[in-house]
Amino acid sequence: MKAMVFEKHGGPEVLHYADVAEPKAGPDEAVIRVRASACNYNDIWARRGLPGMKTILPHISGSDAAGQVIEVGSEVTTVKSGDEVVVHPGIACRRCYNCLRGEEYFCPDFKIWGFQTGPLDGAHAQYAKVPAVNLLPKPSNLSFEEAASIPLVLLTTWRMLVSRARVQVGDFVLIWGASGGLGVMAVQVARLFNARPIAVASSEQKLELARRLGAEFTINRKKQDVFQEVRKITGGRRADIVFEHAGSQTWPISLQCLRWGGTVVICGATSGYEAVTDLRLLWNKQQNYLGSHQGNKAELVDAMRCVERGLIKPVVDRVMPLAELTRAQELLENDQVQGKVVIVPPE
Ligand code: NAP
Repeated sequence: MKAMVFEKHGGPEVLHYADVAEPKAGPDEAVIRVRASACNYNDIWARRGLPGMKTILPHISGSDAAGQVIEVGSEVTTVKSGDEVVVHPGIACRRCYNCLRGEEYFCPDFKIWGFQTGPLDGAHAQYAKVPAVNLLPKPSNLSFEEAASIPLVLLTTWRMLVSRARVQVGDFVLIWGASGGLGVMAVQVARLFNARPIAVASSEQKLELARRLGAEFTINRKKQDVFQEVRKITGGRRADIVFEHAGSQTWPISLQCLRWGGTVVICGATSGYEAVTDLRLLWNKQQNYLGSHQGNKAELVDAMRCVERGLIKPVVDRVMPLAELTRAQELLENDQVQGKVVIVPPE
């Protein structure tokens, strides 16, 4: 089959379009014909190489796929050939204490599919193999391209805002990167809970997208002072929740923008991991700093029900052929994507 592969870490140039063996289903697994995959930032972290994380080489990236089941293992009862599916990207044993508590991301065997799995085990290929328990029905109202664009970013956002920060009616939610992969979901999830999204982005065009998705307020971080704007918007109260993933460059501003007793929830650090925190904000202002990572399958099921009902919509910037994944990653790395880039393998 055709796949986009890298054998060593580096820039986009290490990716190459290759012929590799088709996956075979183990007893608990299913093979899907990938009709569409989506680019995520973790594709870039894996390709560059992350300190403290071993990427299994040769590597096929891709943690989001939508497709059709073409083969199931001998023990599989939950899906059958022909089913149209999407993938829950969190691979866990589903038997240990943490998994049984619904905390699959704490499983000692936890791996993000297409990021930490391998060799040659991800979505950017013609066929892919996953544990059958990781498959969910594709929402019937979406195309394969639209369906592939959703699971990882929606799951992460749902866990951050709903399970961790417990977003409430009327909350001011400050959302960094509001037109990015996570951001387009965060605006919609905040709106779904009748909260008041304050979208931050770097251009008027990106802010217009955020407004179309339901942002009540917008801030252009290149032209405006984010903290002063948040004070104006909230009448001096500041944000109830800050949705963080940009990291060291935004963290001090996030804490400044957060109200006393408010919650910042963070899942990533695109601009760097080292951040300064004035500890007085933690005890004196009693702010809550929560980490969040992916989410369990039940959280994805809950969130996908909202997709099926049309309450959360996919945001596909563009669809590109598998052979052009290198270019797709360059667009993502250069902050030129609004929503998601979707990849389609050859027939
Ligand atoms: P994305 O599609 O590239 O969007 C990120 C957005 O962040 C961009 O649109 C950009 O918007 C904004 N941004 C980038 N650098 C910034 C900076 N220095 N200051 C302010 N804003 C900045 O990426 P994504 O899919 O949303 O993911 C974002 C991060 O979260 C990545 O690091 C990713 O690895 C991480 N993540 C973690 C998990 C998890 O489970 N732990 C899951 C998904 C993603 P503007 O330039 O328009 O402001």
